[in-house]
Amino acid sequence: MLNIVIFGAPGSGKGTQSERIVAKYGINHISTGDVLRGEIKGGTELGKLAKSYIDEGQLIPDELMIKILASVLDSFKDSKGVIFDGFPRTIPQAEALKKMLKERDQDITVMLDLEVPEEELMTRLILRGKESGRADDNEETIKKRLLVYHTQTAPLVDFYKTEGTYQYIKGIGTID
Ligand code: ATP
Ligand code: MG
Repeated sequence: MLNIVIFGAPGSGKGTQSERIVAKYGINHISTGDVLRGEIKGGTELGKLAKSYIDEGQLIPDELMIKILASVLDSFKDSKGVIFDGFPRTIPQAEALKKMLKERDQDITVMLDLEVPEEELMTRLILRGKESGRADDNEETIKKRLLVYHTQTAPLVDFYKTEGTYQYIKGIGTID
């Protein structure tokens, strides 16, 4: 089993690199952001709730995210492994993921931390907002998301350093 956490600030390229890794290793991909956007599009109760947080640049509560993650994980059959994109985003989520995998006799193989300078993140997200129309890719919301990243998500770097699975990746230059 190859279980990868792909990590980084909003706009660091998690989705882009995940696609490459999936194509190369044939593992499953969970993007919590994509799951939530799917729910919003489908107009579900979960989607309505998620939208209220996403539009504010805030995180969806841990308890709810952990439930969603568990159900997606259970839907994978005969999996060679999973790439977790956008999860975990908080320490409680990282602890829950570790527990969920342990219950399945598995663990995280590696955590890839895509490092990109803040200015570059801003430029990429504003461009993505213009091209894709993603509602949370506007300057005001991006600033809130970056703040949430620094306060709630960045502490996971130390969590995975302690686990011994942390790997720094330079997130600029060509995609390859
Ligand atoms: P990237 O550009 O690298 O894909 P991102 O931060 O722009 O990253 P998503 O991962 O798509 O975007 O997440 C979009 C929003 O969905 C987040 O700002 C947050 O509100 C919500 N979200 C996604 N994953 C989680 C999670 N694990 N816990 C809580 N909220 C989440
Ligand atoms: Mg993404």
